[in-house]
Amino acid sequence: MGKVLVLNASYEPLNITNWRRAVVLLIKGKAEQVEHNGKYVYSEFPLPTVIRLRHYVRVPYKEIPLTRRNILHRDGHSCQYCGYTGDELTLDHVVPRSRHGGDTWENIVTACVRCNVKKGSRTPKEANMILRNQPRRPYSSLHFEVAKHVKGGLHQEWRKYVIGI
Ligand SMILES: [Zn+2]
Repeated sequence: MGKVLVLNASYEPLNITNWRRAVVLLIKGKAEQVEHNGKYVYSEFPLPTVIRLRHYVRVPYKEIPLTRRNILHRDGHSCQYCGYTGDELTLDHVVPRSRHGGDTWENIVTACVRCNVKKGSRTPKEANMILRNQPRRPYSSLHFEVAKHVKGGLHQEWRKYVIGI
């Protein structure tokens, strides 16, 4: 049986849990059912896929580390200039390091070797190369997790609760 997306009282996604824990929260009255998938735990108790907590939980923001792996994941493992997907991916500083471009989520994108070499130490504008997406900091690690499930074809009903996927 499946995973359950837990929403805060404010409808923001909070975490992913298993169906057993979700059912316990529902039975204890700590959460309400928002979506179910048409299967039943027992009669008149549909199996939840999204639940919402009745009381708001305050969560500290968890920083997502700026790593090669996370940048590739954010960019869908595709070159942000030409769309190439494959093994030969590198990281490109949008504003080159030699021009004081920083190591930030907003300044590092996935690029194929060809595009990286072609761009050299120029800005995209100077090189006349257009970024397919404006690079930005990911929303949260939960957002990463949810996007992975949805893009992998699971839990399409989660999509409407998460921005940008
Ligand atoms: Zn490319």
